[in-house]
Amino acid sequence: MSVFRKTALLLAFLAAAAWLLGYLSEAWVGWLLFAAALLWLLLSHLRPLAYLDAWSQAPFADPDLTGPGTWDGIFRRLYRHEKEVAQQISERDREIELLIAANQALIDGVVLLDAQDQIVFCNRTAEEQLGLCLATDRGLPVVNLVRVPEFMAYLAAGVFTTPLELTLERGQPRMLAVHILPYAGARRLMQIRDVTQANRLERMRRDFVANVSHELRTPLTVLSGFLETLQEIEFSPEERARYLGLMAEQAERMGNIVQDLLTLSSIESAPPPSSQVVDMGHMLDRLQRDAQALSGGRHEIASESSGQGNLYGAESELLSAFANLVANAVRYTPAGGKIVLEWRVDAGGAEFAVRDSGPGIAPEHISRLTERFYRVDRSRSREAGGTGLGLAIVKHALNRHQARLAIASEPGRGSRFVAIFPRSRVVS
Ligand code: ADP
Repeated sequence: MSVFRKTALLLAFLAAAAWLLGYLSEAWVGWLLFAAALLWLLLSHLRPLAYLDAWSQAPFADPDLTGPGTWDGIFRRLYRHEKEVAQQISERDREIELLIAANQALIDGVVLLDAQDQIVFCNRTAEEQLGLCLATDRGLPVVNLVRVPEFMAYLAAGVFTTPLELTLERGQPRMLAVHILPYAGARRLMQIRDVTQANRLERMRRDFVANVSHELRTPLTVLSGFLETLQEIEFSPEERARYLGLMAEQAERMGNIVQDLLTLSSIESAPPPSSQVVDMGHMLDRLQRDAQALSGGRHEIASESSGQGNLYGAESELLSAFANLVANAVRYTPAGGKIVLEWRVDAGGAEFAVRDSGPGIAPEHISRLTERFYRVDRSRSREAGGTGLGLAIVKHALNRHQARLAIASEPGRGSRFVAIFPRSRVVS
C-alpha cells in the first residue's frame, strides 16, 4: 500500500477516534488528541525524510536501507533501483574497459581527436609511434605535439582521401602511413600504420630485381661479345679453344647464379622443414670430402666434434647451408691455409662452425654479408666463382630451423662462421 493511502487511512482513523473522544467527553479533549496524533505522525516522518534528504545528495546502493513502517517500501524500491543503476554502470565500465583494451591490442596506432583536433584518446602504439603520453597530452591540440610541417598542413587541408606518408626521425627513422577518418560529426580518428618494414621490403624487392638483371647481364654481354668476335674473325684453333673456354666460364657463372636463385626461392617457398633426423656424423664426413675435392689439396682440412647429438630438420637445406660455409672457406682461404669443420653439442643446443685461416673480413662488412649479392670484394668473389647468394641461402635455411648465423672475423686473422641451433632442434 502506498504511503499516501496508509497516511490518509491513519489520519481518517485518528480523526474518527478524536471525534468520538470529543463526542463522549469534552470537544477540546478530542482536538487535543487529534493535534497530539498529528504531531506524532509528523515526527515519525521527519527521521526517514532527513535520511532520504542526506541520501539523495550522495546516493549509494545500501542493502540496509530500511525505513519505519510506511517508508520501508519506498526505501526498498530505492535500494533496488540504485542497485540496478550501479550494476548497469559497472557493466558499461567493463564494456568501455574492453573497448580500450581492444584498442591497446591493435598493432596500428589510434588517436581520437575532438572537433578542435585535441587528443581525446590514443593507444600505446600511437604513444610509441608519435612520442605521445595520453596521461599528460589528453586535451592538447595534436599539432602542438606532432610538430611535423607535412602533418600540420595535411590536417589543416582536411582532404584525407589518400594517407599521409610521414618520416619520423625519433631514434631509428620510421615511415608511418597516417589515415584520418572523420566520425561522429566533426571528430576525427587517426589510424597510424608503421610501413617502415613494408617499404624496406619493397625497396629490397626492387633492388633484388635490378641486381639479378645486372648479375646476369654482365656474363651475357661478355658471352655475346665473344660470339660476335668468333663469327666475324677467323681464329687459330688454339685461340678459338681459349675463347670457347672463356665463354664456357661465363655460361657456368650464369648457371651458378640461376642455380643459387632457384635454391633460395625453393627454400623460401617450401613448407616448414620436416623433423627428419639428420645424421651429423655422415654430414661432417660428406662436407669434409667435398671440401677436399674443392680444395684440390691446397688446404689442410680437419674436423672436430664434441658432445653427442644430431639435428631435427630438412637434410637438403642444412646440407646446402653448411656446404656454402665450407665452400666459402675453401674459396677465400689462400693455398696453404687451414680449414676446420666443428660440431658441438651441449645442454644449451648445438653449433656447426667453419673456421678458416683466410684473409678475414673487416667489421663494417660483417652485418651485410647475408644480403643478397653483397660481396666484400666483387672481383675476388667472381674469380672464386661466387654468386653473392651463398650466405643469403645460409641465413634463410638456418632461420627456417630457428637457428642463426654468427660471424666472427678479423682482417688477417681468419674467420669463423657458426650456425647456432636451439636445444629443440637437437636429437640427443
Ligand atoms: P659469394 O658467392 O660472393 O661468396 P656469399 O654470400 O657466400 O657470396 O659471401 C658474401 C661475401 O662474404 C663474399 O663475397 C666474401 O667477400 C665474404 N666471405 C664469405 N665467406 C668468407 C670467408 N670464409 N672468408 C672471407 N670472406 C668471406
